[in-house]
Amino acid sequence: MTIKAFGAVAADQPLGPLNISRRAPSAHDIQIAIDFCGVCHSDLHTVRSEWAGTLYPCVPGHEIVGRVTAVGEHVTKFKIGDLVGVGCIVDSCKQCADCDDNLENYCDHMIGTYNAPTTDAPGHTLGGYAEQIVVHERYVLRIRHPQTQLAAVAPLLCAGITTYSPLRHWNVGPGKKVGIVGIGGLGHMGIKLAHAMGAYVVAFTTSESKRDAAKALGADDVVISKNADEVAKHAQSFDLIVNTVAAPHDLDALLSLLKRDGTMTLVGAPATNHPSPDVFNLIMKRRTLAGSMIGGILETQEMLDFCAKNNIVSDIELIRADEINTAYERMLKGDVKYRFVIDNATLTR
Ligand code: NAP
Ligand code: ZN
Repeated sequence: MTIKAFGAVAADQPLGPLNISRRAPSAHDIQIAIDFCGVCHSDLHTVRSEWAGTLYPCVPGHEIVGRVTAVGEHVTKFKIGDLVGVGCIVDSCKQCADCDDNLENYCDHMIGTYNAPTTDAPGHTLGGYAEQIVVHERYVLRIRHPQTQLAAVAPLLCAGITTYSPLRHWNVGPGKKVGIVGIGGLGHMGIKLAHAMGAYVVAFTTSESKRDAAKALGADDVVISKNADEVAKHAQSFDLIVNTVAAPHDLDALLSLLKRDGTMTLVGAPATNHPSPDVFNLIMKRRTLAGSMIGGILETQEMLDFCAKNNIVSDIELIRADEINTAYERMLKGDVKYRFVIDNATLTR
């Protein structure tokens, strides 16, 4: 089936309207009419081939929400009309240790929602800046938020799970002190989630304009990371720091803020590496520098249900599909509170 989408045909080209095709649903597939799609910084990294290896045409988008419009004959989890989501994963091998542990995000054969090999035309996956998508039921999530919140639920499918997963993995809860670095799409969800889990949350931002805004999201304290004095007040005090910054920067200033046995996990994925940290900053306090990638499907459902129960959604700015190029430029300047979401109905009007 041919449908309308928005994407780029080369790394140095702006995004524009495209016609793409989707497969007919096979036995375990769900066909979804996409209502809204969040705009992740990974979309921008990929469209511009900043991580290298982008396949064109590139249709990004992995924060997808919509309604089921058709199901394959063996589908048991969903029916037509259900509100559903699709995040960063549309397939995996289903038989390795990672898949068995419901950690498809770490499967060596994980198929990303865009820019990953597939037998469908054009030979690589095309994401959620499109009218509809067809996905195996294993990778489709149920949305329990009210339909009126659907646009603001979309960013949970990547920004939400990418911050929820490390917060859970490192046992964040009451009595724990957590730093969230970079208050963009991921960071603002990190603040909301860590706060809801009962932790003491400190936001680190380069933007003075986000000082009050970060408090409103649930931060107990806000540090302007360019002010060394403000940063130093928190020396050796954090159990966990979740670092979402999308550009290379000095990690040592942040590692020094960890307690003995504290962890800083990187989730930001800049196009070029950070300068190497000082080895002594790790060994003198048995600190850990870690990484984390999105989350598995089971954990993504757990996160969505946690958010529905605690009335957590993303703070969004809804845009038309043809505003995406301006949105990317604004995202690069940190000029969005905190996530752009495309109204996919504007693809056809
Ligand atoms: P975003 O909305 O652009 O937020 C990034 C934030 O980092 C900015 O708002 C800014 O916050 C801070 N920042 C400071 N200096 C920066 C600079 N020079 N360039 C860019 N940002 C800077 O991006 P996002 O969607 O949250 O994604 C953040 C990173 O995580 C990206 O690299 C993305 O590819 C990656 N990511 C990783 C995973 C994973 O699974 N690990 C999943 C999704 C995304 P302040 O204004 O507060 O300083
Ligand atoms: Zn993402």
